[in-house]
Amino acid sequence: MTRVFPPLPPSPMRALGLSFVLRLLAFAALPPAFAAPPVTAPAPSTRAVVDGVSYVDAAGFFARYGLKPTWAEPGRRQIYANSWHRIEAELDRREVLFNGLRVFLGEPSVLLNGALYIPQSDAERLLAPILRPAGLTVTRPLRTIVIDAGHGGNDSGARNAALKLDEKTFTLDVSRRLAALLGQGEWRVVMTRSDDRRVELADRAAKAAAANADLFISIHFNAAAGLPSVKGTETYILTPRHQRSTSSENRHASDGDVQPGNAHDHWNAVLGYHIHRQLLEKLGTQDRGLKRARFAVLRLAACPAVLVEAGYMSNPDEARRIAEERHRSDIAEAVANGVRAYATALATARKP
Ligand SMILES: [Zn+2]
Repeated sequence: MTRVFPPLPPSPMRALGLSFVLRLLAFAALPPAFAAPPVTAPAPSTRAVVDGVSYVDAAGFFARYGLKPTWAEPGRRQIYANSWHRIEAELDRREVLFNGLRVFLGEPSVLLNGALYIPQSDAERLLAPILRPAGLTVTRPLRTIVIDAGHGGNDSGARNAALKLDEKTFTLDVSRRLAALLGQGEWRVVMTRSDDRRVELADRAAKAAAANADLFISIHFNAAAGLPSVKGTETYILTPRHQRSTSSENRHASDGDVQPGNAHDHWNAVLGYHIHRQLLEKLGTQDRGLKRARFAVLRLAACPAVLVEAGYMSNPDEARRIAEERHRSDIAEAVANGVRAYATALATARKP
């Protein structure tokens, strides 16, 4: 898959339209539908609607998780931190730095009455679950893990013609290694393909459903046509309903379509974060971010699901690295560690 994301320019409409479209609603603490009872008294969170998007005041929201705000650049960049977490948000940016990792939001942060606001959907469905998984309810205990090796057969995926390397070879190799690592313990591991064959996208989701999967992990490598300098690691989870995907510059009517995978938005966030974190720590590759997309295997997943783009086949250095067994073994180990961190988070959450 080819994805290059330049930072979005500030929207002039958003800047000009604020006083007209802004409705500030003072909220007492939001009902804890997704959050455990806070340790300290919750700070009042303020909500606003800007260009049809619901926002929450970031300082108030993060205070509910014990994170204290500090301006790094007054009116532009703010840091929210406690002993465990550090989140950095910036005006007009569509991403935050979450414990040093790039995490993409649906819409950029805005400044209202001198306070930084972040999209409410991202606060509730992305950041809150990562900050406090104990506040979530377990939708599926972890028993069966489905590993999906991208492409196969006559679908070679991304190809580095100069080095004669095909994505499908390496997705299968990493998937086999991952299956070996995860299959050692208490979990049952199922692969959507274990040899070089073509499997349609819908059939991958169907195989996972038939196996009664509790977790779905799709392994891929990336390519950016004509941009050989582009490299790094990105991790995808399903875009929540009514949000645009990371690669979309505009919102579309189809963003409102109901997707089966959206039943797992909260756990997708926890899963995506931990896998991305482990990948970046282990591989030391360029951080291209935890992103959201409506890829078929994510849309159709009947359980929490993640798609890993571990590196770029189109970057000569990265392609050579991917071709090394040692590196592929590191990728598998990182994903396995991410699954273990996810399982630990799951263990802290409420049983249904
Ligand atoms: Zn792929």
